[in-house]
Amino acid sequence: MSLLPLEDALAKVDGGIAPLPAEQISVAEAVGRVLAEDVAARLTQPPSAVSSMDGYAVCSSDLQTQPRTLTRVGESQAGGPFEGTLQSGQCVRIFTGAPLPAGADAVIMQEDTDVDGDQVTFKEVAFDGKFVRRAGLDFSKGDVLVKAGQLLTARDIGLLCAMNVPWVKVYRKPRVAILATGDELVMPGEAVRESQIISSNSLMVAAMVTAMGGVPINLGIAGDTEESLRATLAGLNGADILITSGGVSVGEYDLVRNVLGEEGLDIDFWRIAIKPGKPFMFGKIGEIPAMGLPGNPVSAYVTAFIFLRAALKKMQGLPFEQDKPMKALLGAGVPVNGIRQEYMRAVFSHDDQGRLVATPYDKQDSSMLGNLAHCEGFIIRPVNGEALQAGSETDVIYVNDSLLSV
Ligand code: AMP
Ligand code: MG
Repeated sequence: MSLLPLEDALAKVDGGIAPLPAEQISVAEAVGRVLAEDVAARLTQPPSAVSSMDGYAVCSSDLQTQPRTLTRVGESQAGGPFEGTLQSGQCVRIFTGAPLPAGADAVIMQEDTDVDGDQVTFKEVAFDGKFVRRAGLDFSKGDVLVKAGQLLTARDIGLLCAMNVPWVKVYRKPRVAILATGDELVMPGEAVRESQIISSNSLMVAAMVTAMGGVPINLGIAGDTEESLRATLAGLNGADILITSGGVSVGEYDLVRNVLGEEGLDIDFWRIAIKPGKPFMFGKIGEIPAMGLPGNPVSAYVTAFIFLRAALKKMQGLPFEQDKPMKALLGAGVPVNGIRQEYMRAVFSHDDQGRLVATPYDKQDSSMLGNLAHCEGFIIRPVNGEALQAGSETDVIYVNDSLLSV
């Protein structure tokens, strides 16, 4: 049976996934969401010239030399401006963020003054614009500062607030139905008989979905019978994508394929040239995209990391893409690679020159969650890659459960 190259598999999944519709939400809930439309500032910031210091607003022409003494004629606070117009020979007490009075064009810090009643002596010269934030220094009304397709950070939330934008239109959160299969599986915390194992994939995939901005819907565990699989699948209604795990290796493939087939599964491809993760399947049930992850937890994670993460990005309005691999030096040799692109769990560190070093774990068995949880990332071994010694350069990628690239 031939294996689909990774690039082809990615192209097919890309073709089978579409961005979800947008929804309007409060900016208070928008961190981590992706904007569906450009947002323009609803005001100019600052709206007028303001002081950037606590001190005195002056006419700079009065303070070309020092010391000079001016008469204090009033006060300007943030939210409480001085209403008059400053004349030559006068100054106004002013605080950070307070509007600059008409006629004033500079501010002198209070530290550079001596005050005697309403007489203020200045020990510093002024120039036009000194310690003044001009109107529109930050942005002007109508400026498009946050753009469609942007993943909103905490900094963007601050900016949107300053722009007086309380609502934003973002892509809807993907609802991801998750279904584990296997007679041997029980959920964490349940009593375990000797022949049973815990379903780690269900909640691991759910955690990934949550971390990547989606909403997991756990359909539970289906036993390896048609009735059981059919019964659990009933919960698929309303989901944007289905993720199964297990039941796609050669022995059980027919069962999942038969049952999902009756439910309308149209398989696009099954089996790809990556390691771990060969039995990955992609298709559609009616209009709902479906991914069949392999049962082994590391295979499930790696295929979810490659395909589900890119799919969740695209559904939320980001490009369907992988993080860019980086270069690192191997901390240990690696053997010749076969016909599948391999993702080797590795510990990352830096050598004394600050270069990234990636050391693969000795054991790479796809059932081993311990070194998956502890690794910083993967060494990517190309198809038919030759054996490499320690110190050789290699491509690596950080593990990443978020939508943002590392
Ligand atoms: P399968 O693809 O169903 O043949 O499963 C391959 C291996 O992964 C078997 O050892 C299963 O017991 C194991 N496995 C399947 N599903 C899960 C799961 N949800 N959590 C942990 N291990 C699983
Ligand atoms: Mg199974």
